[in-house]
Amino acid sequence: MKIRLASKITYDSIVDGLGIRMVIWMQGCIHNCYLCHNPFTHDLDGGFEEDIDNIVDEVNKYSFKSGVTISGGDPFCQKEALLELTRKLKENGINIWVYTGYTFDQLTSLLDKQILSNIDVLVDGPFINDLKRDYLRFKGSSNQRIIDVPKSLEKNQIIELNI
Ligand code: SF4
Repeated sequence: MKIRLASKITYDSIVDGLGIRMVIWMQGCIHNCYLCHNPFTHDLDGGFEEDIDNIVDEVNKYSFKSGVTISGGDPFCQKEALLELTRKLKENGINIWVYTGYTFDQLTSLLDKQILSNIDVLVDGPFINDLKRDYLRFKGSSNQRIIDVPKSLEKNQIIELNI
């Protein structure tokens, strides 16, 4: 299956989750947050296509890294591809963070839940410039939450990571 990417993989990010992470930048976003840092990622038909298996192979070459972060854009704008990518990464034991402009509560479809079951951490919600704070770690505005997805699904309530 193909996935639409906004740019090449980042190999050594320390600002997109815990540790040193590879970042996959997915194309497409419908949220239009005021002062978004990545407006070039919004066009649903922009960017370029890549084979998901090639991405997984590339990640496996660097499996000594702390994990993979999937950002964008909003990865949930390509749900089928996101499900396939997260499923294959999870099968390979990769720690997965995903950034989305949707809130956890808005991700309620069967497909959303299948995707969430593959994810370790979800950073949720739109970027709100009035709530931007420079001291925030791994997120842009204070409304966004860094959610422990397995625990949240198990307890049926949102449990944030204590970082
Ligand atoms: S969700 Fe992210 S990529 Fe989309 S508009 Fe908001 S800040 Fe930009």
